[in-house]
This record gives sequence, structure tokens and C-alpha cells, in this order.
Amino acid sequence: MLLDQFNGPLKPAELAVPEPEPGGLLVRIAAAGICGSDLEIAEHRDPRIDDELLPMILGHEGVGWVETVAGDRVDLFGDPVKPGDLIVWNRGITCGRCNYCAVQRRRALCPHREVYGISLSARAPYWLNGCYAEMIYVRPGSELIVLPPGMDPAAIVPATCSGATAAHAVELCDIAIGDTVLIIGPGPLGLFSAAFALARGADVIVSGTEHSRARLALAEDMGCSVLLSSDTRAGAELSPNVVIDAAGAARSVSQALDAVAVGGTVAIPGVASPIGEVPVRTCVCRGSGSRTPAIYMRPSPWCNPAGTVLSAWSPTGSSCRKRTRPSRRSNRGTP
Ligand SMILES: [Zn+2]
Ligand SMILES: [Zn+2]
Repeated sequence: MLLDQFNGPLKPAELAVPEPEPGGLLVRIAAAGICGSDLEIAEHRDPRIDDELLPMILGHEGVGWVETVAGDRVDLFGDPVKPGDLIVWNRGITCGRCNYCAVQRRRALCPHREVYGISLSARAPYWLNGCYAEMIYVRPGSELIVLPPGMDPAAIVPATCSGATAAHAVELCDIAIGDTVLIIGPGPLGLFSAAFALARGADVIVSGTEHSRARLALAEDMGCSVLLSSDTRAGAELSPNVVIDAAGAARSVSQALDAVAVGGTVAIPGVASPIGEVPVRTCVCRGSGSRTPAIYMRPSPWCNPAGTVLSAWSPTGSSCRKRTRPSRRSNRGTP
């Protein structure tokens, strides 16, 4: 199915099947998901996508059976990939050579990153670049996972986008037992985040609008507390030390900054495209990340082996002052 004009219907089209380059795969799509990003692209609400990309095949969430492998390929765990395997693949295509890819191993930050179904035209090489088609061409550098036999592709497909994003957010926030986590937005990203945070032993509160009552009920069934996002005061009074904005709007980002406890963490995985300006008037710095003066006494480039501070640190310096007992009303965080 081709998107050849914004705000128009997807149109069926017949395209030739490309000959894979060494390491490339042709994959027969078993299931494809419809993400909020797909709707934003189709309705031209994503300013990153312009006419030059059209026509394109949408769909970045996919699971499929390997049809052809050109040469030998192994998946992330070193298992060989062969025709008939049910696989998922990394939707991001990265260069593998830049500092982010090769040194930091943070491929999602690669400045050359492309995404199947989002940033590749059907005019680009190998043209089968999205999941809303019978087949997709998976490039030689794309990471793969061969799924165990018997898995339901439709159940797995959300994990390739919102599930993976939620897992990454929960990992970056280092959520653990004893944490109180507020998740704004009970869509797939929010519910996946809730599931992962619950699995790590956190107390989880999910907030949503009146329109999302059914999804809030699902969160409640999972073991979360729920509240309406209109009740912003309730969110802040819970004093969550982690807030995950899974809604991705300027208003929800502001709510996250309002609600987080001092020293807490805010993650905003819900933002996929520009959302406008976010006021940060309530984000008040109460101290710095310098912790206690004791940290300066540990061996570091600024200390000699005996732990004597060699830098110009002053115990009264403002950069080292920290409120250790913030009042309840000043609980606005240092995210
Ligand atoms: Zn998506
Ligand atoms: Zn790179």
C-alpha cells in the first residue's frame, strides 16, 4: 500500500521484488501495527516528513517470516537466520560507523539514522521499505531476533515499537523496588511502561483522560493505581520519583515536570515529533547534582591518592550547596 499524497487513502500498488544484496533479507509480513506516528505522517502532521519522500510504504511495526536470505546471517543471539523463521528487526537503520554507533553503542542517537516505514521513500534503493506491504526488504546491517516457534505475530508486533521504547525508558530511569512511578498516558507506550515498572517492583500510577477510561481500567487490572490527568494536583501529591510521559504533548510534559519529586527523573518517550513549546516555569533548581562534599574525597582526577581535594572546591561554594530537607510545597524537582 502506497502513501502517494498526504491526507489521501493508501493505494494498492504492485512493485517488483528487489534482488537482495549480500546480507539482505526479503521478509513476508505476518503482522503490522498501526502506530500514532503512522497517522501523523499520513495526515502530514509530522514536519520531518515532506513531499520528497512520497510515494512511500508506511508501517514501522512489523513481524514476518524470512523468505530469502542473501548469504549467511545470524540474529542478535548468534543463531542462524534461515527461510521460514519468524523474525523481528530493529526498525532503525544506523550507519554503524559514527561515535554513537561504534563507540557509545547508542545507535538510536546515530545522526544518519533512517527508519523503515517512516523516513524511506518507495523510490529509494530496495523500495520495499515499510511494513504495509506483503514483503519488506531488511538491510544487511539491521539487527534481527528469531522468535521461538508458535508465537502469535499479532501479539508480538506492538513490542517492535511501543514495547521496545517503553523497555528502554524504564531501563534508563533505573526503576526498582520502592520507586513510585507516575505514567502519563495509558496508550500502548504507557501500558507497556506500566507493565515493565510493575515487573521491577515499583508502585505504579497511570493517569489518563476521561476518553481513556477503558485503558485506565486495564491498567487497574494490571495492578496500577489510576487517576484522571485533569487532576494534576493529585499527581504531584503522590510525589513520584519517576514520571514517564507516554502521551507526548506539551501539556503532558509540563505535567510531568510539575509532578516529579525533588531529585526525581522524568522520561519523555511519548514525544516522537515536535510538540511546540514546553513551559518550564515550575522547574526550580534546588541544589545541584554535586551530591555531598564526601564525593569529592573519593579518588578522582581532582584528588591525589590520599583523597585530598586538589581543585578549588569550597565548602561554602554555591555549586555544592544542597537542600537536603525540601519543604513539601517546593517539591518541584531537579530533573
Ligand atoms: Zn511506532
Ligand atoms: Zn551511526
